[in-house]
Amino acid sequence: MPLRPRFLAALLSSLTVLLLLVLAPAPAAAQAYVGRPKLIVIVVIDQFRGDYLNRDQSQFKGRGFRLFMNEGAWFTDCYFDYANTKTAPGHATIGTGAYSDGHGIETNDFWDASRSFDKKVSSVEDERYQLVDLPAASIPANQPGAPDTAPKYLIGSSPRNLRATTLGDELRLATNGRARVYGISLKDRAAILPAGQAANGAFWIDNSSGHFTTSTYYMEHLPEWAKAFNASDRPAQAVHEAMLDTTTQFFDLVGRMPAANSYELDFAKALIEGEKLGRNGVTDMVVVSLSANDIQGHQFGPDSDSEERMILSLDRDLDGFNTWLDKTIGLENVWMALTADHGIAPIHSDAADLGIDAALVNMQAAYKEIDARLNERYTKGQQVQYLLPGPDLPYIVLDRRAFEKAGIDEKTAEETVASLLGEAVASQAAPSAEPLPAQHRLPPTAQVIGTYTRLELAHGQLPPSEWGRLLAHSYTEHGNWYVMLVLGAYQMSGAPDYSGTTHFSPWSYDRHVPLAFYGEPFLPGEYRGRVAPVDLAATLASLAGINQPSAAVGRVLTEALKPAISGK
Ligand SMILES: [Zn+2]
Repeated sequence: MPLRPRFLAALLSSLTVLLLLVLAPAPAAAQAYVGRPKLIVIVVIDQFRGDYLNRDQSQFKGRGFRLFMNEGAWFTDCYFDYANTKTAPGHATIGTGAYSDGHGIETNDFWDASRSFDKKVSSVEDERYQLVDLPAASIPANQPGAPDTAPKYLIGSSPRNLRATTLGDELRLATNGRARVYGISLKDRAAILPAGQAANGAFWIDNSSGHFTTSTYYMEHLPEWAKAFNASDRPAQAVHEAMLDTTTQFFDLVGRMPAANSYELDFAKALIEGEKLGRNGVTDMVVVSLSANDIQGHQFGPDSDSEERMILSLDRDLDGFNTWLDKTIGLENVWMALTADHGIAPIHSDAADLGIDAALVNMQAAYKEIDARLNERYTKGQQVQYLLPGPDLPYIVLDRRAFEKAGIDEKTAEETVASLLGEAVASQAAPSAEPLPAQHRLPPTAQVIGTYTRLELAHGQLPPSEWGRLLAHSYTEHGNWYVMLVLGAYQMSGAPDYSGTTHFSPWSYDRHVPLAFYGEPFLPGEYRGRVAPVDLAATLASLAGINQPSAAVGRVLTEALKPAISGK
């Protein structure tokens, strides 16, 4: 009996599918243990909001940002799920796949009751270590060979406050230390925290000279390739590219120019070559945190011409770096991820001009008022300082010694400060002049959206909502009493003449960052589902076949993965 045409067509179609399945190159199962991929590169751009990629998309060229956006999996709606959007917790979150309640880093510089009531400590400073191979002019006064002009005291750094492992730590653990893991940034915290405790090295710059340094936590001396980089004309070239005629304070001057990005990426190339990354038979990793955008962004804001110049210049630098990676290791052997540590608010006056309630809150005045009210209540006629110097929003830190001396317990102290905060900020809210008859919109007014005591955060006494979850993720403690303060959206702390901008809040503009992957396992495309930066470490750990970092709470982004064939 002749085959019916419809049956024949169906048979042919099935055979075609089968043939395609057999011939199509199934993604080889990725395994960190056998060097698939050879290298993971995580690029973090400091203070880079998720909407920047959309805004300047039409002007990107080559394989810079477009490598991620056109050939990779690009998540357009990635938001940090916490309320303390600062550099140190952002970088720790990217590395650990956890939030402050998991990794223990809540802000850049904090009061640590176990270390000092006289000064804050930075998230990475560590007096048990020293900085390595600084140029002679930068040797601190507390070390031999220091010049007369030496900064009084400079100490080493380490990930001592990090309470969770990172993706890099897990790579090191999984390969018995064979995987090599590094962090690079202009800033110590941004080099150290995303790389982790077991990293082979983290490198950042000596602010004055721009030379890369590290800490004795990692090594006694810089590797030869890093010494050669510092000794080359590359630091002077960066100064020249930044069109500056002085080499003093490299960090402040060159650090906020596009030239700083190519400088860091050139150091990353020197590291990858010098340490032979991608040639160890296991998966190596490097995190490069590009600081320049943050240093200039605080000054000029997200909507300035200088921001656009920085982004387009970085696009060219990333194109150069990605092309170099392709020539040396081969992009088919590399997985890359792109993200940022936090976003940024618009310059408040720009937002206010459009009618947004974007006010500055004079927190110094609020501190004075609160201290005065507390003295009135507990130590009449005295001038006791009840609040430790600050603020470092969103945290208002209490001097527990002053309250304890007055016989006040933590609950009462924090609740009292919380209620006084509301009053102190509200007292700044009244517009100073009567509105003019033709004025339709009153001036923006400062407002407190919420105050949350450390005890409430510690015991989960928070709204059972998305909002409560953001706050819970921001909890950690270093032995002090504190209150978390949430100001109105587009509002920030600043003296009346403050013209810059900042990031610290639970509002969308501070939490929105890019998230994109490039590499063999990823299905190229634009993904608009809501994701979070904690998903980065979870996804890469899963693909590499290793444990997720110790406190990871991220989700594996399965929607962006090619179907894997088991056992291949
Ligand atoms: Zn930052």
